[in-house]
Amino acid sequence: MTTDTSREELDAVVVGAGFAGMYMLYQLRDVLGLSARVFEAGDDVGGTWYWNRYPGARCDSESYLYCYSFDKDLAQEWTWSGKYPEQPEILRYLSHVADRFDLRRGIQFETRVTAAHFREDLNRWEIETDQGDRVLARYFITGVGCISAGQVPEIQGLENYEGEWHHTGAWPHEGVDFAGKRVGVIGTGSSGVQAIPVIASQADHLTVFQRTPQYTVPARHGTVTPEFLEEVKEQYDEIFEKTRFSAGGTPYGEPERSALDVDDEERRDIYEAAWEEGGFRFLLTTFSDIRVDRRANDTAAEFIRSKIRETIDDPDTAEKLLPRDHPFGSKRTLIDTNYYETYNRDNVDLVDIRHAPIEEITANGLRTRDGDYELDVIVFATGYDGMTGAFNRIDIRGRDGERLREKWAEGPRAYLGLSPAGFPNMFMITGPGSPSVLSNMPPTIEQHVEYISDFIAYMGEHNFETAEAEADAEDEWVAHVNQTASETLYMLADSWYLGANIPGKPRVFMPYAGGLDVYREKCDEIAAAGYEGYALHSREPIEA
Ligand code: NAP
Repeated sequence: MTTDTSREELDAVVVGAGFAGMYMLYQLRDVLGLSARVFEAGDDVGGTWYWNRYPGARCDSESYLYCYSFDKDLAQEWTWSGKYPEQPEILRYLSHVADRFDLRRGIQFETRVTAAHFREDLNRWEIETDQGDRVLARYFITGVGCISAGQVPEIQGLENYEGEWHHTGAWPHEGVDFAGKRVGVIGTGSSGVQAIPVIASQADHLTVFQRTPQYTVPARHGTVTPEFLEEVKEQYDEIFEKTRFSAGGTPYGEPERSALDVDDEERRDIYEAAWEEGGFRFLLTTFSDIRVDRRANDTAAEFIRSKIRETIDDPDTAEKLLPRDHPFGSKRTLIDTNYYETYNRDNVDLVDIRHAPIEEITANGLRTRDGDYELDVIVFATGYDGMTGAFNRIDIRGRDGERLREKWAEGPRAYLGLSPAGFPNMFMITGPGSPSVLSNMPPTIEQHVEYISDFIAYMGEHNFETAEAEADAEDEWVAHVNQTASETLYMLADSWYLGANIPGKPRVFMPYAGGLDVYREKCDEIAAAGYEGYALHSREPIEA
């Protein structure tokens, strides 16, 4: 970075124009009246929904909950077509929001932020982009997404592959023609289980390379009736209120019964009903203890295994698909449409790469320890460097030139998952240490954006120049995040929540497992106490 200070100055720079960055821009510009710019790498709004155009991509949260609640008219005027929102429809929704609030004029597209350094001499962030922009901003706010840094595993030989390959998170806008092709999909997480049935229906032959069998619950996707949507719109105030004050960002309510307090028949009936209803309700609404008690969890896990055995015709394939090495829900619960049924198709094979790992990508396909597979297209549904990856791709430096990626070398640290100590006036929307990915994202994002916006307004009213998380407050919060995670079953899986999918990444549970409701209460208390845990510094008095 240069030291020249004659550059454009803004109140705030925001990184990313997805759900988070768009609402942040609205708050900064239209509510607080500040000057703000969003830098976005894509050529339009949408964030994760701009990049993830793979076949079958859709959100696992129900449509009527996967939207902004901050504007009542917006909620009333938008009508979803299905139970779950499909990627093109979410993109249309976000484009509508951008038009409605005239957001695009505040967003600089096709621009990646490469560096953000805190200038102690100016109390400003100096931000650089790959397009040569240099901007000074009082506030540096990230809306970079939790699962945006795609991960293609380092497998020997990829550079020699003569076929076509794609990562699900960077899918070509023009789509991929699978007709008549031999396709390989590596990875069976959320992206893989959505893409596999659709690719199987289009390709000549599909080979799925599975490392860890996971639990997936049917989505029961379909259209929604006008009556249902009308009812939702009438009740939106109540629904949004419940959502805001819930643990998982849904209005479903918390189950009270233990899975161990009912007999086998009743338990099976409850699981069966939730299985028929589909989606996250199976995890969230059946029993109170399946996410914390291993014995209770085993009952849900065994129910799902029984469904897999029932669905798959070939017992050997069924056996390969049975998840056994981690509790249900300890990795992100998968929601699918015809995933298990797909293995009954004649043109689909499942290859277990846990026991016979991929050794090499060849010119014509790939080689596992057990043999060669000829493939015209390889799809990497191999996930992300979650929560911290997008930060590490930017050169972020705080006080004394401290690099964020060094501060986070042993795992991410930030007060409330929002503010890293030593990085004044930096705020992370859904950063590591916040409920983020463990909750339905839009209400979680709205909570963060509104907290940040209120904080910035407070600083203006009180003539504060900088807000910086105190090291003790950060330590306490990080300890609380770790303690909360240790009381759950999340620690028992090799998940991306724990960084286990990235070789060499420290094993730290990154999201906050205490729930959005508890988190919101904590943030509100902190704000009411004058932003306790932050060192607030006033502006220098202006000399007469
Ligand atoms: P993921 O959950 O991390 O799954 C990646 C898959 O690739 C896993 O099966 C993993 O196996 C496998 N894999 C990774 N590295 C590999 C390697 N070197 N060799 C072989 N296999 C490898 O990634 P994702 O499916 O993209 O989902 C990421 C997150 O994005 C989700 O958890 C969810 O939060 C979000 N998402 C949401 C939706 C939705 O709402 N519908 C859709 C897509 C994604 P292991 O299990 O053995 O690591």
